[in-house]
Amino acid sequence: MSYIKDFRCTICHKTWSPDPNLLTCPECGEKGILDIEFDYDAIRQVVNKSYFQANQNYNIWRYLPFLSVEETYTKNTLEVGWTPLYHSENLSKLYQTKNLYIKDDGLNPTQSLKDRASVIACVKALELGKKTISCSSTGNAASSLAGNAAKLGLETVIFVPQRAPLGKLLQLKIYGANLIKVKGDYKATFELSKAAIDHYGWYNRNAAINPHLVEGKKTVALEIAEQLHFEPTDWVIVSVGDGCTIGGVYKGFFDLHEVGLIQHIPKIMGIQSEGCSPFVDAFLEDKDLEETEENTIADSIAVGIPRNPIKGMDAVKKSAGLYLKVSDEEILSAMKVLAQEEGIFAEPAAAASVAGFIKARAEDKISSEESVTIIVTGNGLKDQASAMKTISDWVELDPNLQQLIEYMKVNEGDKHHE
Ligand SMILES: *Cc1c(COP(=O)(O)O)cnc(C)c1O
Repeated sequence: MSYIKDFRCTICHKTWSPDPNLLTCPECGEKGILDIEFDYDAIRQVVNKSYFQANQNYNIWRYLPFLSVEETYTKNTLEVGWTPLYHSENLSKLYQTKNLYIKDDGLNPTQSLKDRASVIACVKALELGKKTISCSSTGNAASSLAGNAAKLGLETVIFVPQRAPLGKLLQLKIYGANLIKVKGDYKATFELSKAAIDHYGWYNRNAAINPHLVEGKKTVALEIAEQLHFEPTDWVIVSVGDGCTIGGVYKGFFDLHEVGLIQHIPKIMGIQSEGCSPFVDAFLEDKDLEETEENTIADSIAVGIPRNPIKGMDAVKKSAGLYLKVSDEEILSAMKVLAQEEGIFAEPAAAASVAGFIKARAEDKISSEESVTIIVTGNGLKDQASAMKTISDWVELDPNLQQLIEYMKVNEGDKHHE
């Protein structure tokens, strides 16, 4: 059974009874994003530390009591979630941070955190008897939907903007999605998908609009807390586009706090790119979000008009966190540092959170005594063209040991001689 109490509008705060077809507030319309409220008293009766000790499900369904789906259709999904949380030895030394953890969500089945939302969308579609799911996406929501839908036998119609990187388009086609590349930016793509979904009656996986998806994304926070034995770090850092992921991160810690499993909600730091930073600008100037350009290599967070402004801003404000922006150069440099120090290859949007951490330490916004978790939201192989910008050319030699020795002498000194 699901523990949903009601749906509350983030604008007018009115509550609505949990109708599976309801996606936005009937009074506020399209902008009236709903938040799903749970019956925490009832959850508390079921979920405690021994509940987790006895739980053999090491995937997203481990957290079923906190989710807004029934168990019925959860049996045959891809294995989403329970990604590793690494204790960082090298980055923490390099940036003098007492306790640093890295949550590698690029290890999800389609290599991004978006799987946590997509698998929920697929299960919801099955609950409603829908055969087709649709979304618009800068890449990962789409490739993730396509993979998760393939496993469950659902059809997908997917709208992507012109700048989606090849790796993500390839994923869509290989998973068998009906791919529609829209000649325009993300805004135009989103509008077309919305019109098509209305017209055809497909299930809507657009993350901001569909309140169930933030609930899926929150499982990253539930996992971080459990992996740290319910003593989360002082800070949790994540990159931000539409604002759904960061909203989910907050919601996960909020849930655990409500049921008494954690004592405090971490300060949440949202990272955007200088070329597209509507949340950061609104936060710094304490004003409403304004449309901005989408001018960054971090395509997954290049969202000029965030669809989830309230949840995205509340996550930072209610947790006493902050918003920070980083340049594309800082993102690329963080990508390389993360790979070379920790063996984790992140796509630009995911490396942005690492860049944000480095900047926040440099500016002492995070002190050396504070503990930190960085969420890596997507894998670097998805966008090879960007990663290529961080590396130098490679050498080509004849298959000749003498030539190799000469080369090593000149270029590497004797450091490889063991
Ligand atoms: C979607 C995405 C984000 C940001 O999530 P939003 O919900 O759009 O804020 C960050 N990183 C990656 C890799 C993503 O795919």
